[in-house]
Formats: sequence, structure tokens, C-alpha cells
Amino acid sequence: MFDNLSNKLDRAIKTLKGQGSISEINVAATIKEIRRALVDADVNYKVAKEVTDKIKDAAMGRDVLTAVSPGQLMVKIVYDELTELMGGEKKDIVIKGDPAVILLSGLQGSGKTTFAGKLASYVKRQGRNTLLVACDVYRPAAIDQLKVLGEQIGVEVYSEVENKNPVEISRNAIDYARKNGKKVVIIDTAGRLAVDEQMMREIEAVKSAINPSETLFVVDSMTGQDAVNTAKTFNDRLNFDGVVLTKLDGDSRGGAALSIRAVVEKPIKFISTGEKMDALDLFYPDRMAQRILGMGDVISLVERAQQQFDEDEAKRIEKKIRKNQFDFNDFLGQLEQIKKMGNIKDLMGMIPGMSKAMKDVEIDDDAFKPVEAIIRSMTKQERANPDLLNASRKRRLAKGSGTELQQVNDLMKQFDQMRQMMRKMNKLSQTKGGLAQMQ
Ligand code: GDP
Repeated sequence: MFDNLSNKLDRAIKTLKGQGSISEINVAATIKEIRRALVDADVNYKVAKEVTDKIKDAAMGRDVLTAVSPGQLMVKIVYDELTELMGGEKKDIVIKGDPAVILLSGLQGSGKTTFAGKLASYVKRQGRNTLLVACDVYRPAAIDQLKVLGEQIGVEVYSEVENKNPVEISRNAIDYARKNGKKVVIIDTAGRLAVDEQMMREIEAVKSAINPSETLFVVDSMTGQDAVNTAKTFNDRLNFDGVVLTKLDGDSRGGAALSIRAVVEKPIKFISTGEKMDALDLFYPDRMAQRILGMGDVISLVERAQQQFDEDEAKRIEKKIRKNQFDFNDFLGQLEQIKKMGNIKDLMGMIPGMSKAMKDVEIDDDAFKPVEAIIRSMTKQERANPDLLNASRKRRLAKGSGTELQQVNDLMKQFDQMRQMMRKMNKLSQTKGGLAQMQ
């Protein structure tokens, strides 16, 4: 689902890299690419422009946390805005009344009857006694289709084959439900291939006669911008409560999911992803944004880094590195940060370009335990001045930390190498004018 859009957004975001903060100049090309990706995915142009303007506003001047790259921060900003665009919070359907009535509307072929079956099955699983009502007075085949579905999911189907008046059928069905202890009535109405006046009048009449607690509009997501236009027409007449997007398992480009909420100002409540009765999902804007971006890991990592990474500490460490003063106290502090943020693999994945390379690598978080134990066995002075660590002190460390002398020596060697590397980096950055430009 949405593979194309995901790939294009990924590419757009990758154009942004290497900067310490996001500015008008470095973000412009990325924003343009994101907008193009959205329009290509059939997102309404006005909506694409509005959302990319918001992304730009949110991104401008944001300092990039030390722990994340500008590209990763951008992923999070785009994710936040796409979630907002699709309504932010998940919205449930309202099932109220005795019986509660749910009215379904939509064009023929949208997947309305299939959805009626899925919804009935969903409501039944919540323990509610449910009745399906076939109100398509023009297509006897539609009544049969609903009966087959009803049988499959074990839900009774009410129909009146001779009656051509949907208002009457609906009223009778509700009476029948009351008398037979049904708590939820789901009414499947007639659809046409295209919007027409008679269909609209008919469903308006049904709605005002039965006063449903929830009116849903079902639409085929593969129809892209048409889906949005049809939704608008139905909403103008019916003032429905929510949208059901079907056929998201197909090669839907995502435009409908992204623009419907903004254009119609009604939430998407369900998505349907197949012909089987269990292929129904509640719609969560945040999860959908993650699926569209296809970068769930990055998003949660940036969130965690934003919550937990101590910027002041990072700046202090950077200063110490620059002055060649990085010691074991700092090293321990870094280990603590890593632990707070999750496992080592996650952290490595935050390093730009590492995420893909790390995908199949297994890293043992326990590998850092002896290192930590050795450092914790040092006195404060020893941590600040590793040169104090002579042979007898090293033996003491091994004993105190329950490790082998060899492990202590290895750590010393690695720490030395790390400091040498830092020194080299500092020399290099002095010739290039600042550590920030080295990334
Ligand atoms: P209605 O005319 O609006 O009642 O539409 P139907 O429920 O008869 O669905 C039209 C066609 O779309 C049928 O062949 C369904 O099996 C199919 N369909 C419905 N929902 C989905 C879905 O979520 N995914 C896919 N792939 N097919 C669907």
C-alpha cells in the first residue's frame, strides 16, 4: 500500500542532510519534492500545498538534536503533519439508541454491501445482537449478496422483496429489531454508478425518517480525487458522521486517505483492505501516517530522543571533545544516555546512513555491561585522568568489576584509540572551520 508515495517521500527527505539546523535555503528543495510526491499520489493540490506549508513552518529554524540527523527530524515533522491532516485522533462510531441505527451511503461498487457485512461482524463480536437491512430496492442481486454475507457471519438479514419504498423498509426493520431484541441495525442503502438526484433524495428521506446515531459514507480509495469530490457531494446533502475508505489493499495511491478529511472535514473511521469479512480496520491517523512514510522506527526514535536526550549534556561533551578532554566520566555518561534511549542497536540506527546497514546485524546489549562495570570500579580521579591507571590499579579494576585483566587492558586500548581519533577529528575540523561541517 502506498509504496510509490513512501518511496518518493523517502527520497524527498533524503535531499535534506548535513545541516546543523533547518533553514529556508536547505529545506526549499525538500518541501518542493514532498509536495510533488503528494500531488502525484492524487492528493488534492490545495491540500498538498497547505500541508507542505505547514511542514515548512514547523521545520524552519528547528535546531537539529545531536542524536538525530536533519533528515530524521524531517521525517518526524512530516509524520506529525500527515497525522494531523488525517484528523489527528482516532474517531469511533457512535452506537446509541434502542436499537442503535447505522446508515450506510455511497456509490454502487464502492464496497458498501461488503462493508455492511464487515461492520455487522465487528459489532456482533462486541457482543451486540445485530440486524442487517437490505434497502437496495433496485437491485435484487444486492439483497441476495447481503443474505449470503449474513449467513457467512451469522447475522440475520431483513428484507422486503416486494416493497420499493426504502423509508418504509427501514422503519419496518427497526420495528422488527425492537420486537426481536436486536440492539444494532445496519442499513445498506441503494447506490448508483454516479451521483444522481433521486438517489440523494431517497437517502436523505431515509436518514430523516430513522434518525441514525451514525451515518457513514463508503468510498473506493482507488478513485483518488473523485473519491474526495463524491464525499463532498454526499456530505453537502447528508451531513454524514464519518467516512469508510475501501480497497486500500489495491494499488490505491493514498490521495483519498490524505485529502478527504481536509476537504470534507469529517473523519475517516474505518478502512477496508480486502474482500474477506475480517479485512476491516479502525482508522488510526498516526498509524496510517507511519504506513505512508514507511519509517516507523525513525519516528519513534526521534520521539524518544526528543523526550530523553539531554541537549546541554551533549553540548558539554562536544566541548570536551573539542578540547581533547573526553574522559571516562563522560564515557560513562554517554553509556547512561544510550541505556535511557533504548538498546544499542536502536542508537546505532539513529546515525545517518546506519539504519539500513544495521538492519540484519545482531548487537548484544550485554556486551557493554563489563565495560560499565570496569568504569564504575574506577575512582573519580581515575575516570577524569585515565593516565593514572598503572598495572596495579588495573588489577584492582579487574577484581572490582569481576572481569579479566585482559578486558581492562582492551578497554584502555579502545579508549585510547577513541581519544586519538577525536584528536584527529579536532585537527581536521580546525582546518575546515568547525566540527558541525564535518558531518
Ligand atoms: P457496493 O455496490 O457498494 O455494495 O459494493 P460491493 O460491496 O458489492 O463491492 C464491490 C466489489 O468490490 C466487490 O467485488 C467486492 O468484493 C469488492 N470489495 C469490497 N471491498 C473491498 C476491499 O476492501 N478490497 C478489495 N480488494 N475489494 C473489495
